[in-house]
Amino acid sequence: MFKKILIANRGEIACRVAATARRLGIQTVAVYSEADANARHVMSCDEAVAIGPAAAKESYLNGARIIDAALATGAQAIHPGYGFLSENEAFAVACAKAGLVFIGPPASAIRAMGSKSAAKSLMEKAGVPLVPGYHGENQDADFLQKEADKIGYPVLLKASAGGGGKGMRIVESSADFKAALASCQREAINSFGDDRVLLEKYLQRPRHIEIQVFADSFGDCVSLFERDCSVQRRHQKVLEEAPAPGMTAERRQAMSDAAIAAAKAVSYVGAGTVEFIANQDGSFYFMEMNTRLQVEHPVTEMVTGTDLVAWQLQVAFGLPLPKKQHELTLHGHAIEARIYAENPEKGFLPSIGSLQYLRTPQAVHFETGASVRIDSGVREGDAISPFYDPMIAKLIVWGEDREQALSRMAQALAEFQVVGLATNVAFLSRLIQCGPFATADLDTGLIERYHDVLFPPVQPAPQAALALAVATLLHSESSTEPDPWAQTSGWRMNGQWQRGLQFSNDAGVAELSLQYLPEGVALRDGPETLSLQDARFDGAAVALRLNGKAVLGSVVREQEFFHVFHGGQHWPLRWRDPIAHAGEAEVEGGRLTAPMPGKIVALLVAAGAEVVQGTPLLIMEAMKMEHTINAPADGTVAELLYAVGDQVAEGAPLLSFSMTEAA
Ligand code: ADP
Repeated sequence: MFKKILIANRGEIACRVAATARRLGIQTVAVYSEADANARHVMSCDEAVAIGPAAAKESYLNGARIIDAALATGAQAIHPGYGFLSENEAFAVACAKAGLVFIGPPASAIRAMGSKSAAKSLMEKAGVPLVPGYHGENQDADFLQKEADKIGYPVLLKASAGGGGKGMRIVESSADFKAALASCQREAINSFGDDRVLLEKYLQRPRHIEIQVFADSFGDCVSLFERDCSVQRRHQKVLEEAPAPGMTAERRQAMSDAAIAAAKAVSYVGAGTVEFIANQDGSFYFMEMNTRLQVEHPVTEMVTGTDLVAWQLQVAFGLPLPKKQHELTLHGHAIEARIYAENPEKGFLPSIGSLQYLRTPQAVHFETGASVRIDSGVREGDAISPFYDPMIAKLIVWGEDREQALSRMAQALAEFQVVGLATNVAFLSRLIQCGPFATADLDTGLIERYHDVLFPPVQPAPQAALALAVATLLHSESSTEPDPWAQTSGWRMNGQWQRGLQFSNDAGVAELSLQYLPEGVALRDGPETLSLQDARFDGAAVALRLNGKAVLGSVVREQEFFHVFHGGQHWPLRWRDPIAHAGEAEVEGGRLTAPMPGKIVALLVAAGAEVVQGTPLLIMEAMKMEHTINAPADGTVAELLYAVGDQVAEGAPLLSFSMTEAA
């Protein structure tokens, strides 16, 4: 087996590969950018080499630097993880030239599957079913529009070199085609340096089902069965599970056969995934083959009892597959949820900041048959920067059946607590518990279709959450004021002192009145008076009695916010501190600010333009995605403050805007 490998990646996958290598007694070398000097993945390895500035192009995508690092440290092989250089043919070739083993498929297989268009032509020849569409060389806009008209709308535009849902555009009608094409091409060239596109019929209510294949260099190729990745937002996977609900043995066999045929058509070696799009009736079409390990591989590991990274290392070393097809069986059900630093309420916009507080559910290593696994590349205190994918962790659960896996997921999500940036944890909780997911009525449009259920209006905080916040506030003031919780008897001679407290969230303001009593405090909430007693604190954990009943939770203070975690929910409550806000002026209106650091890619209006509410004004690119800034109301664009190509900081005013006065 290899003695030392270099891991050409960061974050959770780098940590994941390092863990398996350690188990197998293989030394590991990490690489890191300037932004990652203290990153968890660096600490997970035996050695580490700095490879350049934060921007991925200058570090994690710099193949030459990475190869130099491998040679300098005496590594024999390079594991590329996913993303970055994992599907880069030139990098695979360069590794071989340098005498290093690339832990992945042969360069020829990466090339063959690298372009979605070319891969489709190849699959067509191998007899694998394809979605109706156009995947030829002609990229003339008028020609493509005619092809789209022929296919019939809605049509899906995809970047040929695409991945990660980037560049994809649904086109509803011929009239919208050219604008969508331009936008798709712009994102494609930015993300992949290649603006070629292909067209597909946009299927209604499809499911995304993929087959994990594994091949060795002796010509053996097995299927580790399917994963259902239908639950997506912006064409990106959010939940993945194995096996696919409703899958029959015959269909599994047919999909596995097609996947193995696809792998064999390109003389595949290593871990690969063949993605299919399936109709509700079960018929399926080839979408693409990902020539690498997938983010969602843990669900397959859990139901097949394998370690796919160990398989990768063995196969790359020239050993045969650890198991034959007949030795592979499915056991139980696994679900993965991707926990992102993002704001589901704001169109899943990535959220940048630091993980000021991070508590995760108890995880036990999956090989011991554990039911909860967390793959993460960050720790409390780490930053989620604009440079890389905003994933915080993957939460993977296993159960004897889907129902058990689901309830374990619900519980684990309730224990996942983050303060410092927006996350999708609460959204994921609602998602896994919503009717269609719970009953496995799956398709790729589930999130959009159940928007109202998944995005309910914010509720006022329950009294228990308010009580936890109040107790924490009083405790934090105890250095300047007597701590009511540290007193054994009446602590204020004049016992009846009252104080008003305001806590707000998006549902409104809770106006409380606090009354100090010998035995604790009383909290008046409207007509109700609640007694608050026996508060105890242990780090962020708080226990108290509210009207005699035990209330447990955690409270984390972040400036004027009290983040209360109670009953599996997160209540960010803003405390209106009367002293801090004295004399504060009204916020200045009329400016539109950058939701995150990024680059201006298009200005859609000129200064002086009169627009109606919702008019797209400019497009920013941040974290490799385009974000359109729309007019907040009817009005006039007074001034544009940046030009195309300018880099803008988070919160920077982008343009000044004056609203039309109501008549
Ligand atoms: P990427 O490589 O960017 O992830 P894929 O081709 O794998 O792109 O497609 C990603 C997702 O987009 C699929 O999982 C599916 O939800 C949706 N999708 C792709 N092709 C179609 C299609 N023809 N009709 C409907 N949805 C599609």
